[in-house]
Amino acid sequence: MQLIDSHGRHINYLRLSVTDRCNLRCSYCMPADGVPKLSHGDMLSYEELFRVASESVALGIEKIRLTGGEPLVRRGIVQFIERLAAIPGLKELVLTTNGLLLAEMAQSLRSAGVKRLNISLDSLKPEVFASITRGGDLQKVLDGIAAAGDAGFPPVKINMVVMRGVNDDEVLDFAALTLDKSCTVRFIEYMPTIREDGWNSRSVPGSEILERIGSRYPLLPLVSTEMAGPARNFKISGAAGAIGIITPISGHFCDSCNRIRVTASGMVKGCLFSGEGVDLRQYLRSPDNTELRETLRRIVTGKPVRHHLADESVEQGSIAMSQIGG
Ligand code: SAM
Ligand code: SF4
Repeated sequence: MQLIDSHGRHINYLRLSVTDRCNLRCSYCMPADGVPKLSHGDMLSYEELFRVASESVALGIEKIRLTGGEPLVRRGIVQFIERLAAIPGLKELVLTTNGLLLAEMAQSLRSAGVKRLNISLDSLKPEVFASITRGGDLQKVLDGIAAAGDAGFPPVKINMVVMRGVNDDEVLDFAALTLDKSCTVRFIEYMPTIREDGWNSRSVPGSEILERIGSRYPLLPLVSTEMAGPARNFKISGAAGAIGIITPISGHFCDSCNRIRVTASGMVKGCLFSGEGVDLRQYLRSPDNTELRETLRRIVTGKPVRHHLADESVEQGSIAMSQIGG
């Protein structure tokens, strides 16, 4: 079955947030004093998350990304992944992590059925990394990336949020990682989700990132596949890995958006930046899945044509990405 929204887009991707908790406090994702945590009762149980996932797949979702908060901090995640991986019709089960717990968990995640890992890493300098993440230990993430390779994962995708004056001087260092490693480094425009003053001066347009890399290395464009997501992909000539540019601000990719999101508290959203969503918990109380499935279908049909995050004329609420899953 194919899920097509009212703007003709093929929706086949669910981002499923399994927790709002995190072992980091990245400055672009959360305010300094954190965000109010969901109580255990407000968080979907694994059983409920499983029902959401399997109904979504029955409707036509083919790829699920587990996210958070930090998905690896939720107890029992490996056993949950084993169940998800066995859902008939699910083609790709992938996970986004900050990598802090990967060194100890990579092998069990691989055995449980995670196909690929995206790792968020915004600096290769220990002190800058610690400052962005408000205390994180860079070495743990690097050990985690190495452990993913040892566990047999395909080369990881590293996501770097580029912020002017914070880490943009490291763009070339990140690009250089792809020269002899077959990883993909994806440069992401900083999104003003927590509405800090001066975000405009911090955001570095994808075109500028590309220009900087292109002025140092010869770049070749790569063709994207349907499941590959919103990145425009390139390769430094002769390099082992690839480079992606994700431009939610300067060139939103809403025309080709293929995803819906479910938060850890059970809100299903057709758009990351839409304040609207439907609380699935009311439908999860009944053992019958009809309403749940119909609501998921309705969210797909009603997906907005585009987001307005960067429009100064549109009033924006503040969102912590850790609450939605990025
Ligand atoms: N904790 C996991 C991690 O950091 O990979 C998963 C959740 S995190 C919310 C998902 C992604 O959202 C990360 O790659 C993070 O860099 C990205 N993100 C969070 N806030 C962002 C912002 N303001 N602009 C751009 N990307 C952001
Ligand atoms: Fe946590 Fe990921 Fe947000 Fe950083 S980006 S605070 S690791 S949820």
